[in-house]
Amino acid sequence: MEFDRAAEGIAPPGPDGYPEGPGCPLCGFVGMVATEPVAPALAIALCAIQHRGQDAAGMATFDDGAVSLHKDLGLVAQVLRREITATLPGRAGIAHVRYPTVGGGARQDAQPFTTRRPSMALAHNGNLTNLAELDQGLRDRGIRLTSQCDAEPILCVLADEVMMRAVVRPTTEDVVESVRAVLGRVRGAYSVVAVMEVDGQETLVAFRDSHGIRPCCYGQRADGAWMAASESVALDVMDVPLTGHVPPGHVVLMRAGEEAVVRSVAPAEPRHCIFEDIYFARPDSRMEPGRVLDVRARLGVRLAAVWKRSGRAVDVVVAVPDTSRPAADAMARELGVRSEEGFIKNRYTGRTFIMPDQATREAALRLKLNPIDEVFRGRDVVLVDDSIVRGTTMRRIAGMVRRHEPKSLHVAIYSPPVRHPCFYGIDMPSADELVAGRLPVADLETRLASQLGADSVTFLTGEDLTEVAGKGLCSACFDGRYAVSLTVEERNWILSDRRPETTRAPAPPG
Ligand code: SF4
Repeated sequence: MEFDRAAEGIAPPGPDGYPEGPGCPLCGFVGMVATEPVAPALAIALCAIQHRGQDAAGMATFDDGAVSLHKDLGLVAQVLRREITATLPGRAGIAHVRYPTVGGGARQDAQPFTTRRPSMALAHNGNLTNLAELDQGLRDRGIRLTSQCDAEPILCVLADEVMMRAVVRPTTEDVVESVRAVLGRVRGAYSVVAVMEVDGQETLVAFRDSHGIRPCCYGQRADGAWMAASESVALDVMDVPLTGHVPPGHVVLMRAGEEAVVRSVAPAEPRHCIFEDIYFARPDSRMEPGRVLDVRARLGVRLAAVWKRSGRAVDVVVAVPDTSRPAADAMARELGVRSEEGFIKNRYTGRTFIMPDQATREAALRLKLNPIDEVFRGRDVVLVDDSIVRGTTMRRIAGMVRRHEPKSLHVAIYSPPVRHPCFYGIDMPSADELVAGRLPVADLETRLASQLGADSVTFLTGEDLTEVAGKGLCSACFDGRYAVSLTVEERNWILSDRRPETTRAPAPPG
């Protein structure tokens, strides 16, 4: 849990409604096709993934060939009120929550986006790496983008490809070949959901980039309704059993009451974002490696094994709330010690304003997270957290705990050191702001412990992640091995544009 951006008044709430984490999971979507109006169900399902974006929400429904759209800045409950969803007719639709990592987060950047030819609505989750190239290609064909949101170029390219194949009544083959062309033209990490008419029927279309970096799952209810979503919890709330995850480089076409059409278009080596399991996704969601809760617990077991090898004493394991609790509990179980609640979190602070000085920042942290003296005093304490990004928050937490005079204070992280930025849709700092990226690998743990004010820092390794979550992971922010290559210009553009300079948190000293 990283509080530094939150303490500076920058970060939106984390998965449980609180500012935390290495950044934000930047967007989530749901889509549904049924035999009854879908707007009410889409609004409920979207609430289940509100943690993926709080800046804007939107919904588009498809009825008799026409798209109805409503989107605005704000939370789902504010934007998609009942009187609004009542004006969105149709038995097929999509909905989206947005956290802007590209563009300034203006109203026109909210999703979904729509076209008239063909009549279609589309939403996505991810980051495109060749947006400038796509923009130029679309301009050459007389198509002008109206927003900074990279869902729009995906929609324009898809619409362009569909219209090149079928001016009226696109078929399944037309759409499959159009998505194949999209995956050839659009580079980056993206999962997409769209509604349109295919073979004369309302159809929900879902596809993922060739590596399947960003998540997308789908399922069918007993009454024949299909749903697709960024996280399986959106299906759970509507009682839709999970069929599976859209495979990398595949497209799935769904129509109410029919079998889904699953077609391979441009598959490559799977590289699912492991940070979804470590931090971003809700613990009750299921991603490719399994139930997120279980994955975090298994990472805690690995952490216990690493800790045992250190031979250090431990009296109590304390989770930095809330993401790390499954890992902390599992680690404590393995070590035969108690996992205790060491911090009480204030759930009503909301966003904070920019804190002018250190004392005020300390007070803001204390307001959000109050330590329990008896848990720490005179004991050998291990604090468990999901990741260390800038290190600012953990330094403040360690300083706060030190005032309660533990016998020793250790930090255990159930992921490897974050040493590289993410270009695939997770709002992480640039390399020079990553505390582990600035330290030599050889004595990283020792020097970081000293910077944080802890007696030791323990990380997992990339091998630990593979042992727990299997192969086929993207872990580029740990190891720098990017599945989708980028030019220097593309890297710089993503790093500079996705967070305007004025809102950047200052890099921690040292
Ligand atoms: S670089 Fe890290 S955060 Fe980004 S997609 Fe890969 S694993 Fe996820």
